[in-house]
Amino acid sequence: MTDRVIPIVDGRHAQPLPAARPRAGGMQVRDKLDRPLRDLRVSVTDRCNFRCTYCMPKDVFGPDYKFLPRAEVLSFEEIVRLARVFKDHGIEKIRLTGGEPLLRRNLEHLVEMLAGLGGLDLTLTTNGSLLAKKARSLRDAGLNRVTVSLDALDDATFRAMNDVDFPVEKVLEGIAAGAAAGLAPIKINMVVKRGLNEHAVLPLARHFKGSGHIVRFIEFMDVGASNGWRMDDVVPSAEIVRRIHAEMPLESLDPNYPGEVAERWRYGDGSGEIGVISSVTQAFCRDCNRARLSTEGMLYTCLFATSGYDLRSLLRNNAEDGVLHDAINRIWQARGDRYSEIRTAETARERKIEMSYIGG
Ligand code: SAM
Repeated sequence: MTDRVIPIVDGRHAQPLPAARPRAGGMQVRDKLDRPLRDLRVSVTDRCNFRCTYCMPKDVFGPDYKFLPRAEVLSFEEIVRLARVFKDHGIEKIRLTGGEPLLRRNLEHLVEMLAGLGGLDLTLTTNGSLLAKKARSLRDAGLNRVTVSLDALDDATFRAMNDVDFPVEKVLEGIAAGAAAGLAPIKINMVVKRGLNEHAVLPLARHFKGSGHIVRFIEFMDVGASNGWRMDDVVPSAEIVRRIHAEMPLESLDPNYPGEVAERWRYGDGSGEIGVISSVTQAFCRDCNRARLSTEGMLYTCLFATSGYDLRSLLRNNAEDGVLHDAINRIWQARGDRYSEIRTAETARERKIEMSYIGG
């Protein structure tokens, strides 16, 4: 395949495919830091019904914001075709995300198509607002598990953070429906921002202790360019563990598998576990095996990327499977990203891709 310059898509930077490099037999591919490709995150929409102040603030994502037109968005067939090729390169798990993935019409059908590929762990990250309605059909379609974002249990804080006055009760109903449908254990993701919702850490931990669900506390990250990130806003995971441990003693647990993003802790009384994701204070690039496919088919090899590779134009120019294999192979082999390890005040100001576009 010849090297081609990939056009800039919708103002987001696309870069040319890296040069081909010889590789050892088999399809399994490793990057420059010897990391395999295991986990694919697929953003199925750039739209969301929440306007979380730290993710899609209203002053940026207001009524005039131009979301992707339908023709720009990858179809289910296109996503599944790429997923099949990625699977040949070692992908074991696909996480559907967004935007809010449950806003994508007939998402169950995509899940069913992906399940048809066989052998993939299929998961979804959602704000939970539509989960009560959809949990059963998603499970029936072949979804294995679900992660629900929930930044506070008290209604006032939650409504202020989602900024669309959405009640916490409905998310709790979604979590209950997910568990009833068999999408358990459910992971509950809470982003902790200094001065905004740190008071909600202990109530959330208490609420889910003993429920079988796993709360994961996430450090507020400098993704995108619209959330006004400052280091002072980060509540270090070590502080969160200390606070919870003071009331509900914790013991550290080994990771479930290499590259797991959350550091695991279990309650000393056997009533379950929590996780902390320290992407700012303790970077975990060394084992990162994730690739991210944006809603319009750009491939990013890091959450903090400033540019990606345009796979959609390959698909829409009728590239054969061999060409797609070659592209993925080259992109992954050329990958040397370790943004979180080299983060500085300077890099934090770069124009990075928004989380709502690339997918969490
Ligand atoms: N709408 C879905 C949801 O709410 O889970 C999926 C997309 S959302 C972008 C995925 C996750 O990213 C959410 O848990 C959200 O809290 C998290 N997130 C967004 N911006 C973040 C930031 N700056 N730092 C840490 N996590 C962030």
